[in-house]
Amino acid sequence: MFNRVPGTKDILPGQSEQWQNLERISDKTFSCFNYRHIRTPIIEHAALFSRTLGEATEIVQKQMFLIKKDDEDVYALRPEATASICRAFIENNLDKTQGFVKVWYAGPMFRMERPQKGRLRQFHHIGAEAIGSASPEVDVEIIDLARTLLDNFKISGFTIVINSLGCGQDRKAFSQKLRERLKDKLGSLCEECVARYERNVLRILDCKNERCSAIAEDLVRGHDHLCPDCSAHFNSVKRGLDSLAIPYQVSPRLVRGLDYYTRTVFEFKHSELGSQQDALGAGGRYDGLVQELGGPQTPAIGFAFGVERLLLCQEAAEIKPSPLVFCIPLGDAAVEAVRELVHGLRGQGIRCDGSYESRSLKGAMRRANDLGASTVLILGDNELAAGTVTLKDMASGAQENVSRKDLTARLKVLLSEAQQ
Ligand code: AMP
Repeated sequence: MFNRVPGTKDILPGQSEQWQNLERISDKTFSCFNYRHIRTPIIEHAALFSRTLGEATEIVQKQMFLIKKDDEDVYALRPEATASICRAFIENNLDKTQGFVKVWYAGPMFRMERPQKGRLRQFHHIGAEAIGSASPEVDVEIIDLARTLLDNFKISGFTIVINSLGCGQDRKAFSQKLRERLKDKLGSLCEECVARYERNVLRILDCKNERCSAIAEDLVRGHDHLCPDCSAHFNSVKRGLDSLAIPYQVSPRLVRGLDYYTRTVFEFKHSELGSQQDALGAGGRYDGLVQELGGPQTPAIGFAFGVERLLLCQEAAEIKPSPLVFCIPLGDAAVEAVRELVHGLRGQGIRCDGSYESRSLKGAMRRANDLGASTVLILGDNELAAGTVTLKDMASGAQENVSRKDLTARLKVLLSEAQQ
């Protein structure tokens, strides 16, 4: 017997309806904001990620699922989609044909993590990217979009945290300043932060270790690392959010893990997720990424929510499938008639299932009940001879004889009542 790979999940009937519901809501919400759907491959060249996320990041260092074809060609199962979408943007000349591109996506991502609650090896993102504008209006729109999605998913109790990392130069100068300020505190940092000191010093700011967190608290208080342009950009984003009455907190310690972020970064946190993995989703600007990949200088911003975490925080929603009609043949002659009846009803868009063989009425009714059928149709020798069916309404138990020619109309009335 085989078990699933640790850190992966089967999404079974009964759970998959919640997923489909999220996808339906996403589709509607993104469409309202005029974002169009994009699908990119799950496998990419591994270098796409090491180049863009940063060689020193945890994802690239420890978490990539690599597929080695030969020494030259190493593929990776994508750990995130932003780099893939930028690759697709450049490769398909979308800058020339479409200019400013607003896209959304949903799909599996892969990271070799230690599996725990809210942390999987195959998890799913729903996210968006707006590529081709540096305007702070787009930052506001994308945060508004992410917040609207959560509202539409019926998720409440989240907090939006924002920060600005500044442009590439600001980031570099800020990292240097941090290294100086941390030089004589290295002995007090956790092992991982000591390694981050040289490779990715900004990450020390959002380390969850209590001692590192206390040190970080003292290190940065304001936004004095921002140049005048980046400072003005950040102020415009905050003003925009204020004007839309979108509540947020500013945290100078929010840095996000990846190298490609510039200027605005943000996180949606939810207390339901616990203190270690409290982010429902996150995003930010990546004004240098498209160019880093060989494309034209193209400012951009995006975000992604983790679907598994969204589902952990969603109020249990009752999702009603459309009502089911179940057809039961009594006797061998009726099996054929039921086959044709089911085929005809399905052809008219009615959700319909049936017994494939003639068994006891009691057993077939039990099956109809287990499936949650709202209506049962019984066909035996008498009904065949008379051109009728016996129709049983499962909620009331009422039974009636309906002629075959009136059946569809009668079912439509009953099913629309059952749907309410
Ligand atoms: P990131 O791409 O790391 O910024 O993650 C964005 C969101 O994806 C997080 O806020 C989580 O909701 C989700 N996420 C990231 N990594 C995992 C994981 N290993 N398991 C489940 N969800 C994840």
